[in-house]
Amino acid sequence: MKKPDGIENFSAWLEIDLGAIRNNVKRLGEIAGKPVMAVVKANGYGHGIVETARAAEAGGAAWCGVARVEEAQILRAAGLQIPILVMGYTPPEQVLPAVEEKISLTVYDPAVAKQYLQTAAASRKRVAVHVKFDSGMGRLGLFPEEGAAFVRWLRQQPEFEVEGIFSHFARADEPLAETTAWQIERMNRLLDQLEKEGLRPALVHVSNSAGTLYHPAGRFDMVRAGIAIYGLHPSDEAPLPDGFKPALSLKARLVSIKELPAQHGVGYNYRYVTSAPERVGVVSIGYADGYRRKKGGQMLVCGQRVTVLGTVCMDQCMVTLQDVPNARVGDEVVLIGAQGSDCITMEEVAQDWGTVNYEVATSMAHRLPRVYFGLQD
Ligand SMILES: *Cc1c(COP(=O)(O)O)cnc(C)c1O
Repeated sequence: MKKPDGIENFSAWLEIDLGAIRNNVKRLGEIAGKPVMAVVKANGYGHGIVETARAAEAGGAAWCGVARVEEAQILRAAGLQIPILVMGYTPPEQVLPAVEEKISLTVYDPAVAKQYLQTAAASRKRVAVHVKFDSGMGRLGLFPEEGAAFVRWLRQQPEFEVEGIFSHFARADEPLAETTAWQIERMNRLLDQLEKEGLRPALVHVSNSAGTLYHPAGRFDMVRAGIAIYGLHPSDEAPLPDGFKPALSLKARLVSIKELPAQHGVGYNYRYVTSAPERVGVVSIGYADGYRRKKGGQMLVCGQRVTVLGTVCMDQCMVTLQDVPNARVGDEVVLIGAQGSDCITMEEVAQDWGTVNYEVATSMAHRLPRVYFGLQD
């Protein structure tokens, strides 16, 4: 495969396959049979918010979802015109700027909604909102059983345009958990009631990636997908089906190779000491890049797995090259992704770090250049 342009300039970087993101969105849309809201919060799960949103749009995404209004504003500033929903809290001070930029907001608290209303009324603007329900997550939202009155009130205010209703699953990535069906049932009861009163908005969306794949009854009018569009598995129990491809690779370079004598310490606090003369490489990546400060990590050099010696430093780490005689200074090192016939998945790294792939993706540092490819072909 041709190497992405520009990587020769960097000593540590991310390669992002935008063609993979586009195809993953398309694939998920086909599986769901519903429009997809591409969730691009947290800098597109570390992949880059603007580029991810563009790739998602190319894959047919109908909406973009973000957590905070600043994220929506970054998309608008980049020229994206796709509908955007801020799924979290928006301070009342930010309501008018959001309206100006056609950004839809989430409401779930009647007192906050009244503040929005006052701002809107004073400036004769209409705020587009989606109403959030807590059908079982124990986080944001009204309980469905007490939600109809709030929706009724919202729909009576000319300052609000109620575009949608949504909720979020707590355990969709555990396909055997029965709570997901219970959450869907609670939403269905609310929707029945709203339907009877002619108050059901056009867009009801409840499913995240795992919900979309494993709970078809929860697809409603649109699905909100994050992790799957990046080609990452929602969980071990809820893997992606065929046809998805991970978009992100984390790479760095070998910047030094030397033979250390026996009984030589390696790195801070000498958490590794050679027992015999050993060929040791320095890799130009560290915990300030988001690569966790721990021992024993694995990387690919010349298509072979090598192990981190001692602890990871801020900007560098050391690996043993004892079994990689052909490694040279300047060689590419793969920390996440494929090299030769081997591959280190983000899920493998997450397991090693005792966390989930979501946290690995979103911990990739700002200073890592993101090199994009795959959307033009
Ligand atoms: C982050 C988020 C999603 C996306 O979840 P994935 O598991 O990444 O698909 C969907 N909805 C809400 C409300 C979220 O916060």
